Amino acid sequence: MATEYLIEALSIRKYFPITSGLLNRKVGEVRAVDDVSLSVPRGQTYALVGESGSGKTTLGKTLCRIYTPTGGDIKFKGHNIANLPEEQLKPVRRSIQMVFQDPTSSLNPRRRIKEILADPLVIHGVADGKRRMNRVRELMDLVELPQEFLYRYPSGLSGGQRQRVGIARALALEPEFIVLDEPTAALDVSVQAKLVALLKRLQRELGLTYLFITHDLSLVRNIADVVVVMYLGKMVEQAEGPELYQNPLHPYTRALLSSIPVVDDAERELVPAKVPLRGEIPSPANAPPGCPFHPRCDARLELCSRVVPSTRRVKDNHLVACHLFQDDLGG
Ligand code: SF4
Repeated sequence: MATEYLIEALSIRKYFPITSGLLNRKVGEVRAVDDVSLSVPRGQTYALVGESGSGKTTLGKTLCRIYTPTGGDIKFKGHNIANLPEEQLKPVRRSIQMVFQDPTSSLNPRRRIKEILADPLVIHGVADGKRRMNRVRELMDLVELPQEFLYRYPSGLSGGQRQRVGIARALALEPEFIVLDEPTAALDVSVQAKLVALLKRLQRELGLTYLFITHDLSLVRNIADVVVVMYLGKMVEQAEGPELYQNPLHPYTRALLSSIPVVDDAERELVPAKVPLRGEIPSPANAPPGCPFHPRCDARLELCSRVVPSTRRVKDNHLVACHLFQDDLGG
């Protein structure tokens, strides 16, 4: 049976203009996302991994249509939503939600949790009166928060509890696809683990599809069906979770993986030999020519600074964009 993709990004580009002078003349552009394609089957979790500045959040916001793409198509349940006007986007917005990194700044400090959770229902005219309050109570149960927290302000909750409110708010309209942008980054390790367990349970019970954005490859090890590695706006490698962790090919992925602390001997076998990640990711406004990773890559070839590597399928579900894995190294 053919795979049913809930959401597909097809050659997505998102460029931001760089302007200068009083007339705001365009003098350049930041290619935050540059020709990225991925197709997420219903009920799965795709992890989007890379350092800060790799374009992960921009891609997430573009898939949610917080941004309009500069080019490419976004198919949601087979319909292209890339350029739909706001009026026609309204029903789609109910089905696609985003949970942000910092719950402190994404929750209005002057509203009680009860009002924060009711807001999406009011805006979309979904339920009123008693039914609205019942739904709000149901959302608190879903994210395992006590009902008495409904009457608190965000400042009266811990970081982990605030992020649960952020998740409950995203669930209010019964979405099908949720982009989770570093949802655990501001939390300590034990709270992170509980939040990931909650997300897994919600996915199972509600049939959700996730795009999980993170800079931390170890965090998504137990949750990602497929891992997509991004660098300077481009997808450099994509593979199913176990395949990527056991057989990373791109030098950038290998460097990211080798920076994960190894906790036991069984794991040590799976982690590639240490490949240090040298230097900083350049500004996307000033991306290097050829392979964007070449200034930091110990394995670079002569052609790497001149020729952008194309994406090649090395196995059924394993894609990589690196000259080391092209058939033709002639340049
Ligand atoms: Fe390194 Fe070249 Fe591969 Fe880029 S294309 S990752 S520079 S070997």
